[in-house]
Amino acid sequence: MKTLYSKFTVYTLFIMVMSSILGFLITNTLYHQIIKEQNDDKYTMLVQNMTSYIEQHPPTSLDAYLTQLAQVGYQIYLVDDKKQSQFYGANFRLNEISPAIVDSVLAGEAYHGIKDYPQQLFITGFFSNDLKNTVGLPFTYNNHSYAMFVRLDIKLLFSEVHFILGTLLILIPLLSIIAMALAATYLIKPIQHLSAATKQVASENFDAYVELSRQDEIGVLARNFNDMTEELKKQRESQKNFIRNVSHDFQTPLQNIKGYAELIQLQSSEEPLLQEYSAIIKAEGNRLSYLTKQLLLWQTATKLVEQREVLSLDSLIKQIVQDAQWSLQQQQMTIWLELEEMTFLGNETLLTYAIENILSNAIKYGKKEGEIIITGQQKEGCIELVIQDNGIGIAPHNIDAIFEPFYRGDSSRTTEGTGLGLAIVKQAIDLLDGSIEVQSIEQQGTTFILRFPLQ
Ligand code: ADP
Repeated sequence: MKTLYSKFTVYTLFIMVMSSILGFLITNTLYHQIIKEQNDDKYTMLVQNMTSYIEQHPPTSLDAYLTQLAQVGYQIYLVDDKKQSQFYGANFRLNEISPAIVDSVLAGEAYHGIKDYPQQLFITGFFSNDLKNTVGLPFTYNNHSYAMFVRLDIKLLFSEVHFILGTLLILIPLLSIIAMALAATYLIKPIQHLSAATKQVASENFDAYVELSRQDEIGVLARNFNDMTEELKKQRESQKNFIRNVSHDFQTPLQNIKGYAELIQLQSSEEPLLQEYSAIIKAEGNRLSYLTKQLLLWQTATKLVEQREVLSLDSLIKQIVQDAQWSLQQQQMTIWLELEEMTFLGNETLLTYAIENILSNAIKYGKKEGEIIITGQQKEGCIELVIQDNGIGIAPHNIDAIFEPFYRGDSSRTTEGTGLGLAIVKQAIDLLDGSIEVQSIEQQGTTFILRFPLQ
């Protein structure tokens, strides 16, 4: 039973068989508990009518009268006071009855064999063609006592019903099996399509598309699958771009290093030029090293965020500002701090990188002799850090792009940078369940607002 199709078929057949058996058992129990007694009452009335008719209008031949009754659909067993017995109508399958019962009916008692018929799980009492499953009543005819046991010849009466029931019993499961097989195909075909499409995706073909307009769960699955492949395609595209950009960014400093190293070889005697070239080599080396560090952080951020510890954010910021003193003095900038005590369960490396990067951008893109204000407070269930500069600002149409990897603003081309900084900041803050917002006006300044939820 490997395929879903065969499982579906076997389960449905099993359910059909089990429900038929259960249905039979329940109906049979209902017959024995409720209908059997009512049935017995009906029979008693019927036989009473027969016996009183015989007593009130004695037929010339009892034998002929009972033969006629048998022809219209009764099975009759007649015993007279000399214990001579006679069957009329179709044979009983079981035609034994205890002599004590016969005697009691001859003595004037009624026999309720239908009501008292023993309950059996797998035998329907109603259809049981047994002499005991009858109603017996006494009557007198020509001064002789008789005991008459009667039941309807179900076979005769119900032969058409039997045929209809039988056909139904065969047709219902047969049609159900065919319908179920069709339904299974309808359900399972799309899963096969999906499976084929999944294989295509696994072999990097992101154009795999599942054409399904169904509204059910399989339809939802197909739509989710299409969304997923679309997303994977985008991710693969941006991955390629990323690698292209990284290669490019490595290429330029490497070319410079190579070129200046060659120049040093050629002009090794000119001391001032040597100094200049080796300074360039050093700067490019530093740039490559910084880029590599950034890439490493970018790659390991998801792992780092799992290592959280309780941090004092105000102390962390003070330390970062302390470390940036030299750059601030170079730009002759003033920095204002308004920090409340803030504790946060985060990762020190990621938070330090994020704040350092925003601060270093504020210095890089700030005005000479400009100002930077950093405020930090806990409010409305979160920690809010605001880092504001009065520098060159960002053009409105570029605001969304600044978080993209390798994006560098036009006016940033002259400043040092890789374009990776804010992309990593955004990733780190997202991983720490925080948010980052930027407000900027060109030539007036930029404000970054970071929010972290209070645990
Ligand atoms: P990088 O600074 O290395 O170029 P970032 O990812 O840190 O890369 O920043 C992306 C771009 O966003 C920058 O090139 C710059 O154009 C813009 N930017 C970031 N911070 C500021 C700021 N405080 N003021 C003006 N522009 C900014």
